[in-house]
Amino acid sequence: TAPELLRNFSIIAHIDHGKSTLADRMLQATGVVQPRDMRAQYLDRMDIERERGITIKSQAVRMPWTVGTGDAARTYALNMIDTPGHVDFSYEVNRSLAACEGAVLLVDAAQGVQAQTLANLYMAIEGDLTLIPVLNKIDLPAAEPEKYAREIASIIGCDPEDVLRVSGKTGDGVPELLDRIVETVPAPAGEPTGPARAMIFDSVYDTYRGVVTYVRVVDGALRPRERIEMLSTGAVHDLLEIGVISPEPQPSTGLGAGEVGYLITGVKDVRQSKVGDTVTTAQDPATEPLEGYQDPKPMVFSGLFPVDGSDFPNLRDALDKLKLNDAALTYEPETSVALGFGFRCGYLGLLHLEIIRERLEREFNLDIISTAPSVVYQVTMEDRSTHTVTNPSEFPEGKVVDVREPVVSATILTPSEFVGTVMELCQSRRGTMTGMDYLSEERVEMHYTLPLAEIVFDFFDALKSRTRGYASLDYDMDGEQSADLVKVDILLNGDKVDAFSAIVHKDAAYSYGLMMTKRLKELIPRQQFEVPVQAAVGSRIISRETIRALRKDMLAKCYGGDISRKRKLLEKQKEGKKRMKAIGRVEVPQEAFIAALGAD
Ligand code: GDP
Ligand code: MG
Repeated sequence: TAPELLRNFSIIAHIDHGKSTLADRMLQATGVVQPRDMRAQYLDRMDIERERGITIKSQAVRMPWTVGTGDAARTYALNMIDTPGHVDFSYEVNRSLAACEGAVLLVDAAQGVQAQTLANLYMAIEGDLTLIPVLNKIDLPAAEPEKYAREIASIIGCDPEDVLRVSGKTGDGVPELLDRIVETVPAPAGEPTGPARAMIFDSVYDTYRGVVTYVRVVDGALRPRERIEMLSTGAVHDLLEIGVISPEPQPSTGLGAGEVGYLITGVKDVRQSKVGDTVTTAQDPATEPLEGYQDPKPMVFSGLFPVDGSDFPNLRDALDKLKLNDAALTYEPETSVALGFGFRCGYLGLLHLEIIRERLEREFNLDIISTAPSVVYQVTMEDRSTHTVTNPSEFPEGKVVDVREPVVSATILTPSEFVGTVMELCQSRRGTMTGMDYLSEERVEMHYTLPLAEIVFDFFDALKSRTRGYASLDYDMDGEQSADLVKVDILLNGDKVDAFSAIVHKDAAYSYGLMMTKRLKELIPRQQFEVPVQAAVGSRIISRETIRALRKDMLAKCYGGDISRKRKLLEKQKEGKKRMKAIGRVEVPQEAFIAALGAD
């Protein structure tokens, strides 16, 4: 297709404002998906995306759209890239936007602009994209299109009349939106002839087809059966298949400048087909790569352990496979006294962690347990040595002079009646306010610097519950800061239980220690001797509970009674033995550790 008949656009929105639903209506309106094949959230292909109703991976799909009638009729190829809405995956959004000239800025007509609307809007503006403001869900009785059209117009500087109104539910306004995309989004610019340059914006592993690489061709063209070169490594591969997604993969005779599609080269590992790399042809290679993307960096770490130790090799295999689809996931082997062999994994955020866990359990049938998430700390010792700590149990021993923790700059949008509540919450999480703007009389945009560790766990839930669901949050990494942080260890009979060590602010050390010692006291069965459960900062004990010793007669009672009951008991015990972990002299069923980590 000639570049002047191409339009590449993305839909950006706050989560739940209806991107995936609108994408469905576009697939239908353009005839790409027949009514009998339609299912909700067509482009969310992963089971977990469909069940949770969220988009994790970006998707690109090509749709024909005809404008005009008779002799004036022209059929355009629209490439739509659906993007995830959650902050954990904003790097996916960034990449998708780089492949587009326009963005549909979608806003729920009953909710107005939210934090991720703004975050995505800023990314689109930075990327120089043409914006099409659209209010969605106009079928809702609670919709206030007039009010929110004014709000959007004042933010992006357009006329409220220019804000389109659609319903992803009924399909109202969708043809008009498609017309508007053709009309206002610029055709891709690029050199149609000469050396080929295509940007890899996604690369996924498919069990049947191997690595599928999604590209946007910028200059030149790629054709089937050519040999292609990855500019960053010089590696050359045979191009086995090239095509477009519409809505399933369709092989084609090539992709020209401005086109979006997929490549299959027979490489086995997505790392050989790296997101952000430039693809060219081996025959006539380009010399200058396109501007790439930054690698996503894991921000949250936690240990993953198989509940059944013999599953360790399976867990390794499963992580290897997931990694093929997910460049942001990192892992390395880790051993824990309490939990056995496992992996220290790095994630983009808590949602990413949860999704990996869930996929391991569902797609690989693994029973796993994860330790409390931790961020990355930079620890400087008295001898000036510095250590990067992603695992609290590896916090260096000795005199610490400085601990640095990652911080984020957060944007919170809230109805003005909740400003006080939000300030209180942020202060209790060691936040510093850096600014506040009124979007309108009723809505406020608040800016905070907050430690990442304070927001990764339950900040979002706390924010939602204190503002009756009305506030929204978005954040970006914003360097690091020194803080008064200490490591709290949990000791059983004087021995450290590694999985429960935590790095916390000095003021929170006591409450963490108290909570963990109480919890373990309840969960760990009595032993033949008295077992102290302690929390310590360095050598200083900050709280203590005691598990009293078993009485002799209770032991005797167990072994009395009839013979079959006794055998059953012995068998049970043997089974249990496998799962017993010894912390010094104390035998603890692994279940107790699991329960202690799982409880809230
Ligand atoms: P996304 O997170 O932006 O992809 O949002 P979804 O497309 O998953 O939609 C979120 C929720 O809003 C779902 O329950 C949809 O059924 C609902 N929804 C989406 N568009 C409309 C609409 O136009 N009208 C109504 N009433 N509901 C909608
Ligand atoms: Mg979605």
